[in-house]
Amino acid sequence: LANLEPREERGKICVCVRKRPLNQREASLKDLDIITIPSDNVVMVHESKQKVDLTRYLEHQAFYFDHAFDDKASNELVYQFTAQPLVESIFRKGMATCFAYGQTGSGKTHTMGGVFAGQNQDCSKGIYALVAQDVFLLFKTSAYQNLNLKVYGAFFEIYGGKVYDLLNWKRKLQVLEDGSQQMQVIGLQEQEVCCVEDVLNLVELGNSCRTSGQTSVNAHSSRSHAVFQIILKSQGKLHGKFSLVDLAGNERGADTAKATRKRQLEGAEINKSLLALKECIRALGQNKPHTPFRASKLTQVLRDSFIGQNSFTCMIATISPGMASCENTLNTLRYANRVK
Ligand code: ADP
Ligand code: MG
Repeated sequence: LANLEPREERGKICVCVRKRPLNQREASLKDLDIITIPSDNVVMVHESKQKVDLTRYLEHQAFYFDHAFDDKASNELVYQFTAQPLVESIFRKGMATCFAYGQTGSGKTHTMGGVFAGQNQDCSKGIYALVAQDVFLLFKTSAYQNLNLKVYGAFFEIYGGKVYDLLNWKRKLQVLEDGSQQMQVIGLQEQEVCCVEDVLNLVELGNSCRTSGQTSVNAHSSRSHAVFQIILKSQGKLHGKFSLVDLAGNERGADTAKATRKRQLEGAEINKSLLALKECIRALGQNKPHTPFRASKLTQVLRDSFIGQNSFTCMIATISPGMASCENTLNTLRYANRVK
């Protein structure tokens, strides 16, 4: 941790792309891997196109980011270049935020570590656990001992423009703006945590709450934003906060004619919030006086992440390698490109 440059000198926003491996299903369908990462900050898309005369040709497109990770990169490596440099800022009263953005199935939850056991997830640590680990390391260092800090965890989900507490049986919560323009999620459970295991237990509890009562686990969780927060308090007052956001899948298709009315509404809401998010991160990066955080519940709730000198953000855009995902992958890359 100590030998990384302070964030202040490296800009407030870091945007990275992570490619996942081609999976067995894609391989069995003979899907082609169309993504290459020729160097550690370039993503190339090799798209097969058909000309009018019906001959095929390859179209190459390059995108540049702060970092690009290929399908062999571990969660630890991705963490080192994204969330880790932001951890210390919360001990200095900072607001740090890390977003996982991308199509459903591209690796957002794998990266964040939202599910630790069962299903198809592997059991390696994700960013939730890695942040927690470093928070407790720093917590014990002499520099921060005299602050009398306590560490808390909170976990909620935003679905259809409404906020649900994942640590309290999905209780629906109100969001209010107080006189000093602070956003309050009224009644959000904040549970004190004393070690990494405590944090992982909260994540597990939240995840079980997230998926309960749903017929299709993935269908639901891919349509909602999940926000996990590690909060530092001093004498009961907010000191710093790290928000780790597993965003809803950005894929189009929910707005096609075939989709049910419910799906169309879901899709419209997700589009609106992802658009608002892009504008807010851009405003932060360009030090604009006005940040349009009221445009969606997601950005409203994360207001602290976008306002003020002490807010730092990183985004991990996750992409699928297959030709079948080409359209969504290009959309993800364009969005990530525009954020900065
Ligand atoms: P999302 O949350 O974006 O919908 P997931 O994280 O659930 O996607 O990933 C979909 C599947 O792909 C999971 O089975 C996951 O374990 C696997 N996967 C995703 N990213 C990687 C990766 N970088 N390496 C290996 N497997 C991955
Ligand atoms: Mg997911």
